[in-house]
Amino acid sequence: MTLLADRHGRRFPYLRLSVTPACNFRCSYCLPHGYRVEAGTAGPLSLDEIARLLRGFAGLGMHKLRLTGGEPSVRRDLGDVLRVATVSGVTKLAMTTNGTLLSKRLHGWMDAGLNAINVSVDSLDRALFARITGHDRLADILHGVDMALEAGLPTKLNAVLLRDVNDRQLPAWLDYLRDHAVGVRFIELMQTGDNLDFFRRHHVRAAALEDHLRGSGWQALPRAPDAGPAREYAHPGYAGRIGIIAPYSRDFCAGCNRLRVTATGDLRLCLFGEFGIPLRRHLQRDDQLDDLLQAIGGQIGRKEQGHFLHQGRTGITPHLAATGG
Ligand code: SAM
Ligand code: SF4
Repeated sequence: MTLLADRHGRRFPYLRLSVTPACNFRCSYCLPHGYRVEAGTAGPLSLDEIARLLRGFAGLGMHKLRLTGGEPSVRRDLGDVLRVATVSGVTKLAMTTNGTLLSKRLHGWMDAGLNAINVSVDSLDRALFARITGHDRLADILHGVDMALEAGLPTKLNAVLLRDVNDRQLPAWLDYLRDHAVGVRFIELMQTGDNLDFFRRHHVRAAALEDHLRGSGWQALPRAPDAGPAREYAHPGYAGRIGIIAPYSRDFCAGCNRLRVTATGDLRLCLFGEFGIPLRRHLQRDDQLDDLLQAIGGQIGRKEQGHFLHQGRTGITPHLAATGG
């Protein structure tokens, strides 16, 4: 097996695949006006195309796959997508979801092979959650999270930190984490092509939050060799953990171990890259595997050492729903 590596010595065992650009939420930092179909856009990859894509990536050393979107659960054949992903040699099969179908579909998804989940919960306050996402669904989503924990599914929550919106909610999170064995990740808001005004108003660094945690007994955990970009903290008085994802911090990209493929089959070497590499034409027949491997392997050298977000260069990503955040 040829393992993918770039010219900066990084390897890529982790693929994030967007299975649809569509979403049923209107998060203020992502799709504030909801999802709109753009005329002339190709549909998402079919099951057969996904199966061929994953066979290719598995042949290049990928063993962790995250399904994302848009909202993956709006895809009606999501169970089949999970089943296809399971047979391709993937050992960790995760999904990032807004959780709207979690309580209804959890067991079906687990039966189909899902073995880890991230649920986006930007606030534990019902009204604030509804204000951020456009939907008053917090209680049902948290019920789904409880079900996932009871079922033993490794579960993390994602909360995007927004200045003057949800950045003073740590006490509520600490109450929750006391007896919920879940990791919450506070993610710094990232600028994308569409959200510049919002970003200027609401971007806040996680440094103050992190200082507060360190000063109140939370201990930084040693980084696992294959860990993602989160800095993780634990505290003996809490069942849950806290992670900080700070894309504007130094060295954020040094440990990058992931590639992305959009719902229409474009390989993205970086979430904020300037180009996509179309793979779909290599996914039409089973005998195109070599072409696919060459298309991926031949382009990996173009991966930049880091993103250019500090200079306000967001690449071709209008919002993360388009690329698969
Ligand atoms: N719809 C699913 C969800 O919300 O979990 C999956 C797709 S969403 C694009 C993936 C993650 O990206 C979510 O946790 C979301 O909060 C986060 N996200 C979206 N836009 C972001 C931004 N501009 N900055 C930081 N995180 C963002
Ligand atoms: Fe939809 Fe996720 Fe974007 Fe919210 S963050 S609008 S749930 S894709």
